[in-house]
Amino acid sequence: MQDTKIQNVVIVGGGTAGWITASLLAKVLGKSLNISLVESDQIGTIGVGEATIPPIINFNNALGISEAEFLKATNGTIKLGIEFENWGQQNESYMHAFGEIGKNFPFCDFHHFFTKSKQLGSRASFWDYSLNYQAAKNNKFAKITKIEGTNLPGVSYAYHFDAGLYAQFLRKFSENLGVKRIEGMVKKVELNKNTGFVDNLLMADGSTIVGDLFIDCTGLAALLIDKTLNVGFDDWSHWLPCDRAVAVPSESSGSIAPYTRARAHQSGWQWQIPLQNRTGNGLVYSSKHMTDEQAQTVLLDHLPSRPLAEPKVIRFKTGRRRKQWHRNVVSIGLSSGFFEPLESTSLHLIQTAAIRLLKFFPHNGIQLEEIAEFNQQSKAEYISIRDFIILHYKLTERDDSAFWRQCRQMDIPESLQQKLTLFSKTGKVFSQQGDLFTDVAWKQVMIGQGNMPQDHHPLVDSLSTEQIEELMANLKTLINRSVDKMPSHSDFINSL
Ligand SMILES: Cc1cc2nc3c(=O)[nH]c(=O)nc-3n(C[C@H](O)[C@H](O)[C@H](O)COP(=O)(O)OP(=O)(O)OC[C@H]3O[C@@H](n4cnc5c(N)ncnc54)[C@H](O)[C@@H]3O)c2cc1C
Repeated sequence: MQDTKIQNVVIVGGGTAGWITASLLAKVLGKSLNISLVESDQIGTIGVGEATIPPIINFNNALGISEAEFLKATNGTIKLGIEFENWGQQNESYMHAFGEIGKNFPFCDFHHFFTKSKQLGSRASFWDYSLNYQAAKNNKFAKITKIEGTNLPGVSYAYHFDAGLYAQFLRKFSENLGVKRIEGMVKKVELNKNTGFVDNLLMADGSTIVGDLFIDCTGLAALLIDKTLNVGFDDWSHWLPCDRAVAVPSESSGSIAPYTRARAHQSGWQWQIPLQNRTGNGLVYSSKHMTDEQAQTVLLDHLPSRPLAEPKVIRFKTGRRRKQWHRNVVSIGLSSGFFEPLESTSLHLIQTAAIRLLKFFPHNGIQLEEIAEFNQQSKAEYISIRDFIILHYKLTERDDSAFWRQCRQMDIPESLQQKLTLFSKTGKVFSQQGDLFTDVAWKQVMIGQGNMPQDHHPLVDSLSTEQIEELMANLKTLINRSVDKMPSHSDFINSL
């Protein structure tokens, strides 16, 4: 397609997408590439994106970043899961806790034993058997890989942090590895008349920036991939109707919970993310069901503490670019697509896109087959995340507003319908290779929102009632004992 060697990489945009991509490229290929990053202070960044999921730890490790240094620099805290309040029904809650729940057996997962125990009359909750949940609700945290004296997995965690400080941290990291930052606004993207490839960027000051490969990290503006190359967009707003958010930070409110709160309201939901120095808050809502003014009122009425700024409204459309890579442009971050932050997937998608770009890096020229495979992998990743997020809305039992009734009644993708029906009839759930969300994540949302399976695996019936009760009681004891020994989350933060 184009056999020119790729030596000059130009990243357009310096939000978290731009600097994450710059860090990884510079760390791995910095010696053989000239990497520059163009950003405009005048335009600024979106300034939200504070909650993450566990794979971020591997990403930071790959960069060689010290956890303590990173948490100090970004006012970071620990995240053990997301608590969903009022989603299945009002005044009920559950958690998508990271890590495993209970103890899986060969051929038969733990939740089948849990289902049977419920049929036998147990009043226990699924989360009595989650180390992460118990630690989260007790404000505890310790980095343990196994529950002491057992083979049961330990704590799985991610972070909350200040998105702006994270971008600054990665900027310093990238610049130390030779990434050249160019301040300025791109006015026009110029294409080669013969190939249609991007030739250069025309800047507001009249200068031009040339490159071989351009990474579009311009956020919702999508200046290269959409405004210039117009690759098309798969709009998923009929499944995920929220299209706006209003965000505001508030003062720190006492002890710092090691989990995100996602509280459903009448026509959307509210996030609450505790950082070391403040709390991040926002309301995600559907503009068809709520005005911006109503959304601001709901948010301000439900803040945990005094606001620290004026609320800021952000508009978005859920979906993905049909091609994440087209010609010599790769889009990463908000320019490539958007999911509301319900399961904190956007920063993760940036990291996987940056990793994928490295795996597919076209050092000897850009080949169509490479682009096709890259785009296929991105699409599969987006679709599996899409289904998981829709699940939260579809499984609501609320009928107190037009918004929730619409969610309950909507048609869902066939891939999701199949998964839901399989689980409710048989208790079985299978993720595909490469899926971000594990079986246990799916089970928590399904059970948490009232979709208990009607059946369990036959292996469970080989145990007597007493044996099942003993198994459940032992697990609970081991988990509680382990949590009792953990220091508080605040102690961990203070020890940094
Ligand atoms: C309401 C909301 C809440 C979110 N919460 C989370 C969360 O909890 N967890 C999570 O993982 N993700 C979250 N996200 C997503 C997350 O914020 C983004 O994925 C992440 O910040 C990456 O943004 P970005 O770098 O793509 O875009 P931006 O931050 O918008 O950066 C765009 C960059 O492009 C530059 N630019 C644009 N046009 C030009 C131009 N013409 N010339 C020069 N430079 C230009 C800008 O100056 C800027 O530097 C949230 C998003 C929203 C909307």
